[in-house]
Amino acid sequence: MQKLFESKKQCFGCSACQNVCPCDAVVMKADAEGFLYPEIREEKCVGCGKCVDVCPIGKSFGSDKPKAYAMRTNDAKLLSASTSGGAFSLIAKYILQKGGIVCGAVFDADLTVKHVLSADISGMRKSKYVQSDISDCPKEIRDALNQGKTVLFSGTPCQCHAIKNLFPDNDGLFLAALICRGVLSPELWKEYLHYLSADSIPDYFCFRDKRIDNDAHTVAWSINGTERTNEFQRDPFCRIYSKELPLRPSCYACPYTTPLRDFDFTIGDFWGIKELDPALDDGKGTSLVLAHSRHAALITEEIQKSGEAMVLPADDEKSWMQIALEQPAKETMLRRFLYKDLNTRDGSGHCNMELILKKYGF
Ligand SMILES: Cc1cc2nc3c(=O)[nH]c(=O)nc-3n(C[C@H](O)[C@H](O)[C@H](O)COP(=O)(O)OP(=O)(O)OC[C@H]3O[C@@H](n4cnc5c(N)ncnc54)[C@H](O)[C@@H]3O)c2cc1C
Ligand code: SF4
Ligand code: SF4
Ligand code: SF4
Repeated sequence: MQKLFESKKQCFGCSACQNVCPCDAVVMKADAEGFLYPEIREEKCVGCGKCVDVCPIGKSFGSDKPKAYAMRTNDAKLLSASTSGGAFSLIAKYILQKGGIVCGAVFDADLTVKHVLSADISGMRKSKYVQSDISDCPKEIRDALNQGKTVLFSGTPCQCHAIKNLFPDNDGLFLAALICRGVLSPELWKEYLHYLSADSIPDYFCFRDKRIDNDAHTVAWSINGTERTNEFQRDPFCRIYSKELPLRPSCYACPYTTPLRDFDFTIGDFWGIKELDPALDDGKGTSLVLAHSRHAALITEEIQKSGEAMVLPADDEKSWMQIALEQPAKETMLRRFLYKDLNTRDGSGHCNMELILKKYGF
């Protein structure tokens, strides 16, 4: 039987193996922590090896040194609706204007996070720090590419690598990979939502709200019409994330912590913008855009020419380098205890989230 990985730390949960299997032999199942992993149904497997070939584990993805830019949309509403400078929307708009379609992460009606393929990108905006399920998308991407459409896929680098391997050398596919520090367990998220509102789903949740100019370091949500906000670093749940406690195991061994990536774009927050242009250090957010491919550099030029955004070359690496492009998050002993607490359930089947927030979100 095929073996896809030696240790859970290797598997990204990208579901490329499931999508490529011609025999429907791979099922993605959540483990006790709530992260998806593939299981091969031996009775269906014919040993063709396609799942191993497509899997990004251990496959190279390096590129030459990218061209770096600071990017910010001139549209104040769009800037406010975006996490950093709106680079995702600017790139997506370019693709949509050429008749293409976009695949990105949205909150579903129950606030679970999943990727969808759509021409409506509004729900894709804003970072959701929970692992997104992309398993439904490859079939739709394949159909769109077969119809001759250009497809922009935007997601974590491991997801982009999976999509790249599923559609190798496809000129119609553009990949915009985020700078990524790690993702939260969908189960931890589900329990947190239950803690926020046991009887109903919150009306909305935003990890990176921009109602004040603090580089989107505000978390905001609403329950039955009542809005709440907190400073990201003071919010116990967001603190658990920013302390890198409960990430997917693969995030602690992430191979994508480098600016040398064989995608089209890398997009993230331009934290060092003060070094490049002090006037832009105004708390409104600026995107860092790394253009890895010739096409990406051309699209960036087009965005600059359109007058819709401010685009500045950022040749000095010191201005834009950040830890998430240098080394993976560090795992601590606390992670095991946190998941033990998550799996300790009361009579109603829920964990003691208040205890978890007190113990780990200080
Ligand atoms: C889990 C995660 C970790 C991140 N870590 C860093 C970091 O350490 N440093 C840094 O500079 N930037 C990080 N980012 C990226 C940053 O927060 C912004 O998403 C990025 O700058 C894009 O902002 P924008 O203004 O261009 O776009 P926005 O319009 O806000 O676009 C958001 C984009 O993120 C995608 N996205 C949102 N949630 C998810 C998800 N759960 N999984 C996959 N894709 C998703 C959407 O598809 C969309 O393309 C992270 C993002 C995520 C989702
Ligand atoms: S070896 Fe082939 S049939 Fe077996 S699980 Fe992998 S892709 Fe499916
Ligand atoms: S293809 Fe993705 S989900 Fe499947 S084993 Fe490899 S990393 Fe894990
Ligand atoms: S940190 Fe690395 S392994 Fe984890 S989700 Fe991001 S790209 Fe994937």
